[in-house]
Amino acid sequence: MSNKLIVIAGPTAVGKGTVVDYIVKNFPGIHLSVSATTRKPRPGEVYGKNYFFLSHEEFDGLIADGEMLEYATVHGLNKYGTPRKPVLEALARGEHVILEIDLQGARQVRKTMPEAKFIFITPPSWDELVRRLTARGTESAEEQEKRLETAREELAAQGEFDHVVINDEVARCAAEVVDLIQS
Ligand code: 5GP
Repeated sequence: MSNKLIVIAGPTAVGKGTVVDYIVKNFPGIHLSVSATTRKPRPGEVYGKNYFFLSHEEFDGLIADGEMLEYATVHGLNKYGTPRKPVLEALARGEHVILEIDLQGARQVRKTMPEAKFIFITPPSWDELVRRLTARGTESAEEQEKRLETAREELAAQGEFDHVVINDEVARCAAEVVDLIQS
């Protein structure tokens, strides 16, 4: 059943969130796991839709209760994790489930649910990635630097994934990912 579990990772600002949103809007039967995070919401982000925004204490409580399928400290700043129950419930309903998580989380899932499909979204070039991160303008210069450092490490690990898809154009990239999900 867990070959219906799809792990999608990729560096910061590659647009994986946009690709995943496009897939969920346009292809029925694909459930997107909503992660928990200790990061503060960006303007327009909604609790329970983009993330469950939690305090560090609340997040640590879920870990202690064994309620996280995986979790990681991302960019050395905040914790992010996948609440286990909704994922298992959606798989039990026969849906595909997408986890959009970082490399550390993907490695954890590789160990605990090795039948999952692992897809890495990569940018057309390094320069384009830097351009997308800067254009988004939601992070301070210091945080952008941290994110680019993590991005270099993540790009170097793309060979660990079952499939690598270039996000050159959202609809095209999404269609390729959906083909992989359904294959
Ligand atoms: P952002 O702060 O830009 O929303 O996300 C930062 C990073 O956290 C992204 O690389 C994203 O994939 C990762 N991330 C989001 N949710 C999770 C999660 O549940 N688990 C893990 N391990 N990483 C996550």
